Amino acid sequence: MDKHYKVQVKDLHKSYGSNDVLKGINLNVKPNEVVCMIGPSGSGKSTFLRCINKLEEPNSGHIYVDGYDIADPQVNINKVRENIGMVFQHFNLFPNMNVLENITLAPVQLGKMTKAEAEKAAMHYLDLVGLQDKATANPVKLSGGQQQRVAIARALAMKPDVMLFDEPTSALDPEMVGDVLAVMKRLAQEGMTMIVVTHEMGFAKQVADRVVFFHDGDIREQGTPEEIFGNPQHEDTKNFLDKVL
Ligand code: ADP
Ligand code: MG
Repeated sequence: MDKHYKVQVKDLHKSYGSNDVLKGINLNVKPNEVVCMIGPSGSGKSTFLRCINKLEEPNSGHIYVDGYDIADPQVNINKVRENIGMVFQHFNLFPNMNVLENITLAPVQLGKMTKAEAEKAAMHYLDLVGLQDKATANPVKLSGGQQQRVAIARALAMKPDVMLFDEPTSALDPEMVGDVLAVMKRLAQEGMTMIVVTHEMGFAKQVADRVVFFHDGDIREQGTPEEIFGNPQHEDTKNFLDKVL
């Protein structure tokens, strides 16, 4: 374990029955680093992200978040999770609450903030995602892109120090994608540590400090965007990029 890293993953294995989905993943993410994970469908990207906040139990290996071994029973996983924001493809907003209530629920329930503090923070994050005028709206009445930006504001309201994104724009109509990516880019520029699974190669090129290519449960290749997109070394990387670029 090395306190220097925000997230440290060592020799992570995960299988479902006889399906070896993660075959010994090693990845270290530094504070303020933006790591984009690309790779074919079924290569294990979502499973990997889900292991980081213990939504999945690995079969073996180690995961440290902020230096805490999340498999250690002494470690309060809920406290660790409070510092990990997660945004999924499907926004999973609570349909029976307005936008503001969606954002303030967790910080208030978990005792992180008073209701007044949480509302002030919520308005700040709504402003950041460009939706300050939607505080009292019902989320199901918003567009997909707006809903996803609310989901990002909701994750940020917990003041996480790492954000995990799992294909946050894949379910959106094309005209909505840019607004969501712009919010993510701004977060990256403000220094958020981010792991982003994405099919948006333009975003990865522009925003990632490091691009990690997943293939068949393994990291085949990683490097700067220039290295991965400009001069991929591995046949699997070349084949994948030929298909998506
Ligand atoms: P990706 O996100 O790269 O598309 P996933 O992590 O979703 O890949 O899936 C990797 C493999 O794990 C696939 O073969 C998928 O069918 C399998 N898988 C994922 N989740 C489960 C699960 N809960 N139960 C069984 N198999 C799963
Ligand atoms: Mg996935």
